[in-house]
Amino acid sequence: MLELLPPPPTDPLWDLTYEFGSDERAERLNLVLGVYRDHTGRTPVMAAVREAEIRLAERSESKEYRGLSGNTAFNRALLTLILGDGGPQGRAAAVQTVAGSGALRLLADLICRTRPGATVWISDPAYVNHRPILEAAGLDVRTYGWRDAEGGFDAAGVLRDLAAAGRDDVVLLQGCCHNPTGVDPEPGDWAALADLAARAGWVPFVDLAYHGLGDGLEADLAATRLLAERVPEMLIAVSCSKNFGLYSDRTGCAIVLGASERAVRHAETALQNAARTLYSMPPEHGAAVVTAVLEDEGLRALWREELDLMRGRIEANRSSLAAHLAEYGWAAQAASLARQRGMFSMLPLTPEEMLRLRRQYAIYGTTAGRINIAGIEAGRIPCLARGVAGVLAG
Ligand code: PLP
Repeated sequence: MLELLPPPPTDPLWDLTYEFGSDERAERLNLVLGVYRDHTGRTPVMAAVREAEIRLAERSESKEYRGLSGNTAFNRALLTLILGDGGPQGRAAAVQTVAGSGALRLLADLICRTRPGATVWISDPAYVNHRPILEAAGLDVRTYGWRDAEGGFDAAGVLRDLAAAGRDDVVLLQGCCHNPTGVDPEPGDWAALADLAARAGWVPFVDLAYHGLGDGLEADLAATRLLAERVPEMLIAVSCSKNFGLYSDRTGCAIVLGASERAVRHAETALQNAARTLYSMPPEHGAAVVTAVLEDEGLRALWREELDLMRGRIEANRSSLAAHLAEYGWAAQAASLARQRGMFSMLPLTPEEMLRLRRQYAIYGTTAGRINIAGIEAGRIPCLARGVAGVLAG
């Protein structure tokens, strides 16, 4: 049977990561995957997470099966975290998932069960896994533009493209810190998008993977909350991978907002059924940790402090890179870079130039120009700037 398998495509980001692994140059810099690193170059376990893990181990709870929605205390805590105190939790349900990717896939399945073959609009460019996940669930994918010629958010272009989205369509939007561009809409742009969704009747599907790492937790959730206020139905995929540093614990949830209690209950059951056929139930550990952090005032405050610290470091890295590039004489490129948000930045380099950056300077970003600005020790920013400026100079 396996002999019949044609060579399948491999994952381009992991391919680059493996290539990096066999690069023996001492100065090599891996900025491919979206993983935060501190000033020592490590991806730390957050102190609030560590303390929650110690407490959980001491309590040594049973590892009995959880229900089909996973950890329900986690789901409640995440609903409040995302929608806010006094938010529309009354018309929402959450199901714990295998991280943000699992939430995207379960919600894609839900769309397919409701509207087989429905069209989902994604940004161009989009997170590399958006299209594969949606298509694997059987959905049709169309794209809307995202950036203008100067590298900023193309408000008019996005509204123009999405004018073609109809009431049976779903529009996937990243709630903050757009991956891969780092370019986000301004609050007024989000209001215009919410108006368009309410008028045209399409369902917003918000992907939240970086809340807390852009302008601050509340600011990063403002667009999601605004949409939730304005539209009757909405889907939200939440990842705890980056903002709790729980990458390998695969922690997240799928949230649905509906117009009636009945619709929400049915959607929740459909999500549980989808999970049942994929992996049955999500892993408990990360969800238990997040719940322990969010339910304890002290741990929650510590987590917020650490999250703010991470955000500050990312921002400092970005401004430092922009300042160095400006000093090399690339002022316009530096200004565009400085406006970006979140873990990723798009370098103003073509795919060929990204290849040169890799070959000549041992700096690994994606072929499209994305680098993980959160993955560099501050002391290495000058090397990165030197490499980028060297490639720009030709
Ligand atoms: N959505 C976006 C935009 C992402 O960038 C990522 C991860 O990089 C995810 C979802 C999925 O994250 P995870 O499955 O690791 O929680």
